[in-house]
Amino acid sequence: MKKHNRLMSKGIPIALLLTVFFLTAGFAFAQTTVLRVGNLVDPAAGTAAKNQIILVKDGKIAEVGPNVNIPAGAEVIDLTNAWVMPGLMDAHTHITLDELDMSSGLDVMFLRESSAMRALRGLRTAQDILHVGFTAVRDVGNDANYAAVDIRDAIRKGWFIGPTVLTTGKIIAPFGGQTHRLPPEQGRFWLYEYIDADTVDEVRKAVRQNIYYGADAIKLVSDNSAFYYSEEEIRAAAEEAHAAGLAVSVHVMGGEAARNVILGGADSVEHGFDLSDELLQLMKEKGTWLVGTEFPQAHLEKLYPAEMKAQTKEEAAKYVDRLKRAFKIGVKMAFGTDSVSNLPGKNRGDMMLDYLDMWDAAGVPPAATLKAMTINAAELLRIEKSRGSIAKGMAADIIATPANPLENIQALRQVSFVMKDGKVVKPKK
Ligand SMILES: [Zn+2]
Repeated sequence: MKKHNRLMSKGIPIALLLTVFFLTAGFAFAQTTVLRVGNLVDPAAGTAAKNQIILVKDGKIAEVGPNVNIPAGAEVIDLTNAWVMPGLMDAHTHITLDELDMSSGLDVMFLRESSAMRALRGLRTAQDILHVGFTAVRDVGNDANYAAVDIRDAIRKGWFIGPTVLTTGKIIAPFGGQTHRLPPEQGRFWLYEYIDADTVDEVRKAVRQNIYYGADAIKLVSDNSAFYYSEEEIRAAAEEAHAAGLAVSVHVMGGEAARNVILGGADSVEHGFDLSDELLQLMKEKGTWLVGTEFPQAHLEKLYPAEMKAQTKEEAAKYVDRLKRAFKIGVKMAFGTDSVSNLPGKNRGDMMLDYLDMWDAAGVPPAATLKAMTINAAELLRIEKSRGSIAKGMAADIIATPANPLENIQALRQVSFVMKDGKVVKPKK
């Protein structure tokens, strides 16, 4: 009690000190930063404006244009030799999952690592991703019992620097998640990563469970088994999620299962590797997004056993063809990678940028690819009012490259400057 009283008697000076500290900290954060920009890329229009100034205050873009007054005492960053654009986004990531080897299977990952270890893995991955220029990502599950929710919250609290993380919580799937024929004696240990939902009511309940535990979006896996979701089950998920302001993404490859996803009103088809032109046309009509996750062949080779090498070549060619057809038909597309393996010397950020090769191979113009990586992804993620473009009032998520990404999208592999919510996280050399 005595000790407690002593602390209490010092209460006022401590409170004063804290006030002074927070006022000072607040003042430091209110510091204005000015970016002098040689070429400001507008991904919506696919154009670049010369000699622009961006004024950043309190983490947001306060002004942008050719004739912005530079306030006295502002920190000025020289990007006059660079191409400046909004931070990149990936609509399909699994930040807590990597080093995956499909010859041992996805299930091994659930047993091998605790939720805490998976969260640490995810935090490291999130930071690698930010460093190469991705300022927002959507984690679409396989996150070890909501570990991505904790990563998101820790970054939001300012404990760690990282990208904006949106998470879907546990993946909702028909019985068994993405496991296959586990012995019944083992029990349903997939429930660490999945929610079994096999009726309209179970789907509704699963969506509510995810919202309760902090999901920003909903993810279903439809056709990973011989059975798949009906149109009614998809509609139930969409109704329940939309009522709470969340988008629904569904892992589905093609055929009748994909038709159910599109007609049921899901917001996005994830993967869609077997989509016919007819289904792509239906997606266009319904306004369904495609998050294509076209794995490069080198990634597939790393992911699957050696004896499948010939098959990986065919698979990658099929993905390029589907991407080409989707672009030609005019389906709305958001960039998504699903990268979960690691090639020697490459971190997750580098692996994600490898997907640019697939967009190039499909003949998608650089401006359209950049759009898929910025404003399109922001729209699908429902954050387009605060992120995804460089305009007054938007969050200051800004990156720069030495070369013009509208001419060659591979310029994005050389991101030389990253600002996240107004803080420089990768200073220009
Ligand atoms: Zn995935």
